[in-house]
Amino acid sequence: MLTQDVEVLVVGLGPVGSVAALYLARQGITVAAIEAVAQGATDLRASTFHAPTIEMLDDLGAAELLLRDGLKAPVYQFRDRQSQETFEFDLTEISDRTRFPFRIQCEQHRLAQDVATRLEEEPNASATYQRRLVFMEQDESGVTAYVETPHSMEKIRARYVIGADGANSLVRKNLDLSFPGFTYDEKFLCFSTAYPIENAFDKLCYVNYVSDPEEWMVLLRVPTLWRILVPAPENISDADLLSDATKNDVFRRLLRSDTEITTNHRTIYRVHQRVCERFVMGRICMVGDAVHLNSPMGGFGMNSGIHDAINLGEKLVKILRHGGDEKLIQLYERQRHKVTTDFVQTQTIENTRMMREGWGNARNERRESMNRLQNDAELRRKFLLKQSMFTSLEDAAAIA
Ligand SMILES: Cc1cc2nc3c(=O)[nH]c(=O)nc-3n(C[C@H](O)[C@H](O)[C@H](O)COP(=O)(O)OP(=O)(O)OC[C@H]3O[C@@H](n4cnc5c(N)ncnc54)[C@H](O)[C@@H]3O)c2cc1C
Repeated sequence: MLTQDVEVLVVGLGPVGSVAALYLARQGITVAAIEAVAQGATDLRASTFHAPTIEMLDDLGAAELLLRDGLKAPVYQFRDRQSQETFEFDLTEISDRTRFPFRIQCEQHRLAQDVATRLEEEPNASATYQRRLVFMEQDESGVTAYVETPHSMEKIRARYVIGADGANSLVRKNLDLSFPGFTYDEKFLCFSTAYPIENAFDKLCYVNYVSDPEEWMVLLRVPTLWRILVPAPENISDADLLSDATKNDVFRRLLRSDTEITTNHRTIYRVHQRVCERFVMGRICMVGDAVHLNSPMGGFGMNSGIHDAINLGEKLVKILRHGGDEKLIQLYERQRHKVTTDFVQTQTIENTRMMREGWGNARNERRESMNRLQNDAELRRKFLLKQSMFTSLEDAAAIA
């Protein structure tokens, strides 16, 4: 039954697991990466890649697809839906800090598939699909994982396991860890369309956060589609939310016209703010959505997961190849747990509040803070470095 004996088993080939596996494989570590679903997930979730993430992927030799097919967005926008007042932020102002002074807009599944294909080309790595982890046990020298395939059960022995198996992580559940936090009352409804919605607005960017007390929205462009994310009351059934009637209402309000819009995707998301109590238990480490979930406001979920993957990868290479102390993986936990809590959670909760809160104080507060940023170059630079995630990486590196 023992089918493989490797140094690292990576569970899940989403964007985070595939990057973790490729990083290790490129450093000569023997890696088995398994994915439960036949092709990997193809739904539209993350679309924004921030500058430090593009740098990490470029260093790994895996940024070609993003740089070739992704849309470069040096400028992004906050818009007040009622007054149509806009505030723009230009990442070229931090060109001295990064060789990629823009966000890249591209579907996350395209990156995940591209990285997994590169992984398959590595002689010391395997990437296999329709392999679902069902159980694990660990001892002093490693972990034994039991994996279900369409035809049989397989057993993989590894010195370390990386759980990159997403929000419902079996790795996390298997370790019986708590995942404290909260879930927003409203659902988030996401449509995609090839319709040129930019024609209905003055000066739309590729990334637009539109605040409104009744129906805030995020308008995002990916290479072939616009994505429109709106909140949906929890008391409306999923079937109603996905109906043509709801779709027509949303687009009628958005475009202020009765044009019939064809959608390519209609998806409902529950949005959580949660951080797992531990990122590491013995030889089992976790990265990405398996240990942290947050609102998509700011585009930090996948990006911070990729930052986890590289941080952990560096430590495992030191341990497995350069005689590094095994306690280094505890440093991974200290660094990434702290920035997840202090930056990603705090900032996404704040960003979401600013989008959804009503008139009065919240709106005035938002205008004042945007105006302050527009008028103060030093403050704006700090804001750009923070929102593009450079500051959180520096903060993590400073933790010993
Ligand atoms: C509407 C929306 C918009 C978003 N936009 C952004 C954005 O712009 N930028 C950003 O940074 N983040 C964004 N996010 C968050 C982002 O999508 C997630 O953070 C990201 O998908 C996490 O990647 P992951 O690889 O950790 O998990 P996943 O993408 O969920 O991948 C986990 C993989 O593990 C596999 N798996 C699960 N269980 C098993 C098992 N037992 N055995 C084997 N394989 C298993 C799954 O099939 C899956 O392929 C958004 C999220 C939403 C909902």
